[in-house]
Amino acid sequence: MIRDRSIEEIFDGNYYSPGDMVLVGCSDCAGCSECCRNTGDSIILDPWDMYMLTKGTGKTFTDMIEREIEIRLVDGLILPNLMQHHESDETGERSGREDAPDLLSGDHCPFLSQAGRCSIHPFRPGMCRLYPMGRYYTEGGFRYILQKDECTDREKTSVLLQDWLGIENLARYESYILDWHDFKGQAEESLHILTQKSRESVTRYILQIFFVHPYEVKLDFYAQYDARMEICRQALADILPK
Ligand code: SF4
Ligand code: SF4
Repeated sequence: MIRDRSIEEIFDGNYYSPGDMVLVGCSDCAGCSECCRNTGDSIILDPWDMYMLTKGTGKTFTDMIEREIEIRLVDGLILPNLMQHHESDETGERSGREDAPDLLSGDHCPFLSQAGRCSIHPFRPGMCRLYPMGRYYTEGGFRYILQKDECTDREKTSVLLQDWLGIENLARYESYILDWHDFKGQAEESLHILTQKSRESVTRYILQIFFVHPYEVKLDFYAQYDARMEICRQALADILPK
């Protein structure tokens, strides 16, 4: 998602790489779950997130839609985001988890446990891993930034950024993130020239191929993503830039 605030308003003035130390350590978030609450529809998922959610929960997109995830238009594309649950929603049946909370107050992520911890921590989405960092995209790449007004309530310690992200094969993941970002940008631009009916059909196709069609979690994510991207680019060859 592209923010409507300028970068100068949100970052601390520095750009970071995975090998840099960043002031984000927060005592393992003990006693705090602030960034898992009242997030609205802001935690937008990408295909890697979908694969990881399926791996962590055993559920596909179809199992999770309108329970843990929902879809909406984001910069012209239909993309899923984590839903918010409200205390009145909290029954084991609704969340589908045995450890489902029954008394969490306020709006919160469906994966937040009653103890205020992320119940899918090893499988959490990329946006959750980044926070309070963000990405700043440049021509052909991106740098990490620290959002200075986020997670400000406690004393911070320095942490190696790659440890904070906790992503296996980070270089491969970053190359995938860039590819997905570029694809979304190209698709968004191309959609402008289509009729509304064609636009709807293309956006639904993109949702289907990258999110709805289940991932095989025993297989490597990147090989599946690359194969889907190749099929998608072939299918949309007439509208995407060469
Ligand atoms: S707001 Fe900061 S301390 Fe609180 S849960 Fe999020 S990252 Fe951890
Ligand atoms: S997936 Fe986990 S870390 Fe992300 S918002 Fe939900 S509970 Fe918090």
